[in-house]
Amino acid sequence: MTTFQTVSLAEIAHRFRSDLSPLEQVTAIYPCCISSYYASLITAPHDPVWKQCVPSVEELDDTTQLPDPLDEERLSPVPGLIHRYPDRAVLLVSNRCATYCRFCMRKRKVGCAGGETDFSAAYNYIATTPQLRDIILSGGDPLMLLDDELHQILSALRRIPHVEVIRIGSRIPVTDPSRITPALCRMLAEHHPLYLNTHFNHPQELTAEAARACSLLASAGIQLGNQTVLLKGVNDDSLTMQKLMTGLLRMRVRPYYLHQMDLVRGTAHFRTPLEQGRQLIGSLRGRVSGMAIPHFVIDLPGGKGKVPVLPDMLHRDGEVWQVQTNSGEWVRYADPV
Ligand SMILES: *Cc1c(COP(=O)(O)O)cnc(C)c1O
Ligand code: SF4
Repeated sequence: MTTFQTVSLAEIAHRFRSDLSPLEQVTAIYPCCISSYYASLITAPHDPVWKQCVPSVEELDDTTQLPDPLDEERLSPVPGLIHRYPDRAVLLVSNRCATYCRFCMRKRKVGCAGGETDFSAAYNYIATTPQLRDIILSGGDPLMLLDDELHQILSALRRIPHVEVIRIGSRIPVTDPSRITPALCRMLAEHHPLYLNTHFNHPQELTAEAARACSLLASAGIQLGNQTVLLKGVNDDSLTMQKLMTGLLRMRVRPYYLHQMDLVRGTAHFRTPLEQGRQLIGSLRGRVSGMAIPHFVIDLPGGKGKVPVLPDMLHRDGEVWQVQTNSGEWVRYADPV
């Protein structure tokens, strides 16, 4: 495991003159870890960075939802490998992160003991499942592993001929960008085609350090995407979203997904109504480049998969279509006869 500097809740309480002692009952259930770097981005209590990393007693209010609504455990043919779609699977390679996000969809697992991945069984399953073309390393955060540990996993996957694409999902460029070193990038570049999806949620996270990390990765030929989670009180307004998405493009990161919050226990206070997200994504159309617009997706409970949610802009009108412009005007469009 890599090491990094962290701050305690007591230090945050001292810095912002707040009483955070009631949070001990929260962290007894959902662990807390905040990197010094990420904590340094907090400008005031309850700002968008604070809300993402400092626990809240509201986490304990949410008891009706399930710990694993996406049925990941049921969809795991071997411990630590989630196989939900025909041609791709998720391999959980670490259960730690440089900062534990309070809205995490794997809140049941990250930072907790147990749930070890059986690597040899996972490699064996992938090797004997020829339709698997695309393996996604996730966790926890794969970049919490040492370069050598990650190199071993990538090499084992690359020995399987039908594995075409490897993806890494990591929030390290957001929470501990100094972990992205030239040596790490050189090692990753031995395993192309390699994609890395990072996880920026707010323009406050688009710092010079994060930009340097993304630039190092991109210069090593790693295609960078971004998955944002739509979070109430953090990024659920059009201007914040525009700044985030256009700022990411400037950092050589292509927005990929905007996720509707999953129905994960302990995260209800972050959830927005589905219609709000639909309007938000609609509000970006025409205002910013299509390059800056992610797919807004809902990951359906029961492991039914991700489904894009689109603004309602298309109606059949007899022989022709009616298509709505970004400014709301309906325009006729005829199919070929
Ligand atoms: C999100 C996800 C994937 C990847 O889906 P893409 O749409 O290809 O990015 C694969 N497996 C599981 C279990 C997932 O949740
Ligand atoms: S970095 Fe990812 S896996 Fe880790 S706590 Fe945040 S959302 Fe969860």
